[in-house]
Amino acid sequence: MTPAGIIAALTDLLGLGAVLPGIGDITKYTVDWRKRFHGDAICVVLPKTTSDVAQIMRFCWEHRVPVIPQGGNTGLRGAATPFPGSGAVIVSMERMNAIRSLDRASSAITVDAGCVLQNVQQAAADAGLLFPLEIGSQGSCQIGGNIATNAGGLTVMRYGTIRDLMLGIEVVLPDGRVMNMLRSLRKVSAGYDLKHLFVSSEGTLGIITAATLKLFPRPRSSATAWIALPNLVQAVPLLERLRDHFQERLTSYEVLSRGQLELVFKHCANTRDPLDGGYPWAALIQIADASSDDGLQNELEEVLATALEDGLAENAVIAANSRQTQDLWYLREGLSMANVAEGRHVSHDTIVPIAALPEFIERVTERVLAAYPDAVPISSGHVGDGNIHAGFMFQHARFPTPDDYEQVAREINAIVFDVTYALGGGFCAEHGIGIPYREPLSKFADPVELAIMKSVKTNLDNRGIMNPGKIFLPPNRQGERHDHP
Ligand code: FAD
Repeated sequence: MTPAGIIAALTDLLGLGAVLPGIGDITKYTVDWRKRFHGDAICVVLPKTTSDVAQIMRFCWEHRVPVIPQGGNTGLRGAATPFPGSGAVIVSMERMNAIRSLDRASSAITVDAGCVLQNVQQAAADAGLLFPLEIGSQGSCQIGGNIATNAGGLTVMRYGTIRDLMLGIEVVLPDGRVMNMLRSLRKVSAGYDLKHLFVSSEGTLGIITAATLKLFPRPRSSATAWIALPNLVQAVPLLERLRDHFQERLTSYEVLSRGQLELVFKHCANTRDPLDGGYPWAALIQIADASSDDGLQNELEEVLATALEDGLAENAVIAANSRQTQDLWYLREGLSMANVAEGRHVSHDTIVPIAALPEFIERVTERVLAAYPDAVPISSGHVGDGNIHAGFMFQHARFPTPDDYEQVAREINAIVFDVTYALGGGFCAEHGIGIPYREPLSKFADPVELAIMKSVKTNLDNRGIMNPGKIFLPPNRQGERHDHP
């Protein structure tokens, strides 16, 4: 079928206004957030209901049209971007954004997959409850995208990733069948738990159309502190100290390197260092408590005072009010924006045993700087769960062509993967595989695990129409349309 025929048929199915032809300006959908991957598509389709999605999929299945599911397009691995000349249809979920129901007795909320994460947090808050997933892109990423990438973020140590927060799911399969597993039940042991298949599936197994998510009681008090660390080594005993004392009340423990912080101060308006001294690493921590007792700040102050005396930290400041709390969190949230504004960076999504974090950063930094003395280390991470983003910044001028960048990225990746595996870690904690990590997946995954993953894909999508070329390397790379130039 010709592109014009596909557009006409989809318009017949969904109506005018629900199909944006690729000859118009659809770059919002065909370029990724970091502008690293650029593609094109026959059209963008904007369904409003699960039955719209089922119609789209039945049509694309029958005519073997590749489909790229897309949420907020904030993914960092190019997984929502079509390849140039792909002949694909992008299914954007932005109009499927209703809160379907909130079940207070079960502490659960059922939402369309196109709901923006922040709107789900707000709906829970309006009911006096908490949906605890917090990530830097929460103002634009969607629940479907969060599930398809297994989003983590700032509160994983207390609440887990979205996998742990999901009770039920509704998915339209590649052939258009609807699998409805929307339930708020806390215990089900009736055969394979298929909902988890779609977590981290990156749009390769079907289109998630809705999900039922767990809600929690809202903490009634919280305390946030910014802590100057003498080095990353002390971040580990400090974590142990805080966790021993506060237990599950410690909800976040983030770290930022000096190089990363300087970029935030440079590019994010109205930011300044909360502490003096040019310390090499900062930790940002949050304690939250179910009681409204206002003694939490004092308790944190006492624990931090002892930590300072014991040399685990150099200095610390506790936010005195909600404005100061927001300002501290903005330093963490602003880092992706600052990095994009500064230049081209290579960053990673490594997870290692928490005790190995300092050694990981030390070994990687030493080797990368030996190979690339002009690289500026800009690491940061979610220390509370062992997920560290080792990053290296370069100036734009260093890479006259995209290939020059990809070459450096490949060499830095090789160093990072080498150290990661030597320390018993994994290369992909929360951002997914997408395009750039297909090769490492094929190299590092257990061969049996990889074979089972591929057989699941073939079983659900033997026509290969769902987000082709993502997660797995295409079998024959010659002349294939699954790569970027
Ligand atoms: P998209 O980018 O649109 O898509 C991502 C993948 O999901 C693609 O493979 C796509 O095909 C698939 N997909 C999307 N919707 C569906 C659907 N309905 N059904 C099936 N497949 C679908 N991630 C974290 O985990 N933690 C962080 O702290 C974090 N911080 C970030 C900060 C910034 C500033 C940015 C830009 C990104 C950050 N990310 C973070 C990465 C990103 O926001 C997450 O991966 C997010 O979950 C992607 O959601 P999305 O809706 O934008 O998905």
